[in-house]
Amino acid sequence: MPLSAALDRVLASDLVSHVQVPGHDNSAMDGYALHSRYDGTKGLRVIGESRAGRPYAGPVGDQECVRIFTGAVMPDDCDAVIPQEQVAVDADGVTIEGTVSPGQHRRLAGEDLAVGAITIARGRKITPSDLGLAASIGRDVLTVVRRPRVAVFSTGNELRDLGAPLERGSIRDSNRYTLIGMLTRLGMEAIDLGIVGDDPVALDAALVAACGVGADAVITSGGVSAGDADHTRDVMRRAGDVAFWKLAIKPGRPMAFGLLAHGGRSIPMFGLPGNPVATMVVFHALVRDAMLKLAGARVEPVPSITAVCETAIPKSSGRTEFVRAIATRDAHGWRIRPTGLQGSGILRSMSEANCLIVLDHDRGPVAAGETVEAWPFQGLG
Ligand code: AMP
Ligand code: MG
Repeated sequence: MPLSAALDRVLASDLVSHVQVPGHDNSAMDGYALHSRYDGTKGLRVIGESRAGRPYAGPVGDQECVRIFTGAVMPDDCDAVIPQEQVAVDADGVTIEGTVSPGQHRRLAGEDLAVGAITIARGRKITPSDLGLAASIGRDVLTVVRRPRVAVFSTGNELRDLGAPLERGSIRDSNRYTLIGMLTRLGMEAIDLGIVGDDPVALDAALVAACGVGADAVITSGGVSAGDADHTRDVMRRAGDVAFWKLAIKPGRPMAFGLLAHGGRSIPMFGLPGNPVATMVVFHALVRDAMLKLAGARVEPVPSITAVCETAIPKSSGRTEFVRAIATRDAHGWRIRPTGLQGSGILRSMSEANCLIVLDHDRGPVAAGETVEAWPFQGLG
């Protein structure tokens, strides 16, 4: 990818520097370049100037110095810079107040990057500073990993797409939109396979279609809980090695995961619970890292904050609970309060929230004033 288009892509191989940065010793201050041998007894004659982009070329003797500015190349015979605030300038030249130590206010060639240094490691999701770093070593093209293609479909006879009539008892399919949004944020290419009814033939066809469009993974929502028609399980099991799980988390208890076999290839399939909040929570908690891994990205822990909880939160030990919450910061640090109703169908509170409080498996009820850990949504993708 051209450097200008590589932001957020995953670097495919280590970027090794063939040059050193900075390329030359240079000054960290505006002042005077000299050799630290200077004995300080008499004034130094100013014999020239070194400006950024306009180096001083000639030799510099023991009783001489060069006017120098920040970023300008150090003249050959000089090893130190005296800031302009620390000198007296008169007809005899420049006299120094204080002592000069070798190397003072000098930036060394290669101190940012040495020749042969790994400038950016493979698996890195390219950040703005990486773009700058690549530019600083003159790289205008980066080798990045192809974005994984992830097929997404929703299951449920009650689901209707946007624009379709909504008869009594049917609902809009919202999960596909949240899933595609979360995948896009993570840098995946989502393939929208629409809505599939609770029907074994249609489900089978959708799984075949997902493999047919060259998907690297499939994510579905709905139809994975114990009460769901057995055919969901049958179809998924027939299509590959898919296991159904009950997870000790809330929301998001049911989930299916396994490998779909198609044409000698097998791709991971994630069957997420249908409740809109459960879909999102399970995606963040369990699918996100897998997606990053699929993308060739280095998987790093989700950044979290520690916050004082303003209200009590009911919690049973024996499962991990995720609570939609709003974190704010004041002079004392982070404070947090749950959004209102926590039903797993209440998507509005997910939009109101800016983070998920994560209450560990063994934790019991939270009292107001206790500290909790939370994942800011911005850190999730
Ligand atoms: P299920 O996991 O299929 O039993 O669905 C659990 C709940 O989530 C039900 O109330 C479904 O109507 C709802 N649901 C399932 N899929 C979706 C979807 N794609 N968009 C919105 N709600 C859904
Ligand atoms: Mg369903």
